[in-house]
Amino acid sequence: MENKGRIVIISGFSGAGKGTLMKALMKEYKDKYALSVSATTRAPRPGEKDGVDYFFVTKEQFESMIEKEELIEYAQYVGNYYGTPKAYVDEQLLAGKNVILEIEIQGALKIKEKFPETVLMFVTAPSPECLKERLVGRATETPEVIEARLSRACEEAEGIENYDYIVVNDTIEAGVALIDRLIENERMGKVADNQSHRVSANIDYINHMRTELKRFAKGE
Ligand code: 5GP
Repeated sequence: MENKGRIVIISGFSGAGKGTLMKALMKEYKDKYALSVSATTRAPRPGEKDGVDYFFVTKEQFESMIEKEELIEYAQYVGNYYGTPKAYVDEQLLAGKNVILEIEIQGALKIKEKFPETVLMFVTAPSPECLKERLVGRATETPEVIEARLSRACEEAEGIENYDYIVVNDTIEAGVALIDRLIENERMGKVADNQSHRVSANIDYINHMRTELKRFAKGE
């Protein structure tokens, strides 16, 4: 049976505002989208709730989920497991919803392989300077954390060509409207209307971002 909903993957630099965008998208269009909650072995951060931000599980529980094939994909990221529970995604797709996965690139590529209709979006701040400000701007961060964030952003920037669309997150309202439009056009087969947001149509901008990120990471 043809699923009506699409899987939509949102990745992006930390500091690009993905989390805020997704919350706003869910609020504005709750009938159309469902946000998948991942399982992870990392410890909850202050304020994070089990079953809302993540399902916080032990390594043994996670490995048992892998064994029982309860995850559509999983990856290791900075020493912890992260994975997407299969049941919820299947159920929501069948109900006709688009399911949003906020995951990193290794998982994104695995999903795209299994479900070729998946839409891959990469969220970025409006300019390299703005991203740098968001990444390093908080006076509370140590130089080591700043360096790790910048080098991680450089790595992530290398993978952007694997994504379908780049979403420049300027204002939340515009970002939410754009994401919804891109997905609607995909579903209606009107992909030509999305052309200007394709990664392939924005290579100069992306290369500029990469060069600047590398400069920042070197401390320039
Ligand atoms: P954080 O620890 O900051 O919440 O997440 C670390 C990274 O793991 C982020 O890039 C996030 O998008 C990614 N991530 C979260 N859940 C999943 C998942 O289920 N699968 C994969 N592959 N990555 C995930």
